[in-house]
Amino acid sequence: MFESLKIVYHQGKQFIPDVTTAQVPGIYRGRPVISLAKVDSKDLLKICPVDAIRVDPVCIDLGKCTFCGECSRIFPEKISFTTDYKISTNDRDKLIVKEGDVTPIEVNPSMVRSEVHSVFGRSLKLRQVSAGGDNSCELELNASNNVQFDIGRFGIEFVASPRHADGIVITGPVTDNMAEPLEICYDAVPEPKIIVLVGTDAISGGIFAGSSALNRSFLDKYNIDLYIPGNPAHPLTIINGLLDLTRKKQVK
Ligand code: SF4
Repeated sequence: MFESLKIVYHQGKQFIPDVTTAQVPGIYRGRPVISLAKVDSKDLLKICPVDAIRVDPVCIDLGKCTFCGECSRIFPEKISFTTDYKISTNDRDKLIVKEGDVTPIEVNPSMVRSEVHSVFGRSLKLRQVSAGGDNSCELELNASNNVQFDIGRFGIEFVASPRHADGIVITGPVTDNMAEPLEICYDAVPEPKIIVLVGTDAISGGIFAGSSALNRSFLDKYNIDLYIPGNPAHPLTIINGLLDLTRKKQVK
């Protein structure tokens, strides 16, 4: 007993008391900021391995970006990455950060279906489907459950059976082999249900975009309720995104 108390005294609180204001280390790359500085657009376009950068005006698509940081390393006067991990949204267009744009990325309350708040506002069970994932986003989803991030305290849990789930969380670029299992799993989830995409691979295909080994037709068929970018997505991005989606906010 005394030994346990000694450990608690020395280690302090294991969990993050407020996941909405927690600070992350400076090496973390979150929401980018693009200045109005003039740079050679051809050189800028050439840097990005996944065509996440567009020019006139310069934009970065966080649904495609692998957060490799190469653009900010070569053009530090043009692009920098903040430690803002709140980059999840239900509006795909909001993932495109334009030059001069410093507004936070948020869930658009007017695009959230009413049943998402009324049914899942206090309890949300999710079934995770790794559709050709590399286990990076899957690890971060696991980390969301650990004692530090503790997503369970918000009533959000991962379940084994889709029959017990309120929605699916997809990771990976959705390979052809996983297209049918993904559809079967989604069909098994009772209505109403949500679809959440976690990570660059799930949102756009990432470095595998355009590969003949992918079959992303599932994503064209259904409404996506939440995009959680990152490569992999950070647990704080995952938790804040799910909370923003399911907790009711005023429609502005
Ligand atoms: S950080 Fe993103 S936008 Fe910049 S080069 Fe890497 S993938 Fe492209």
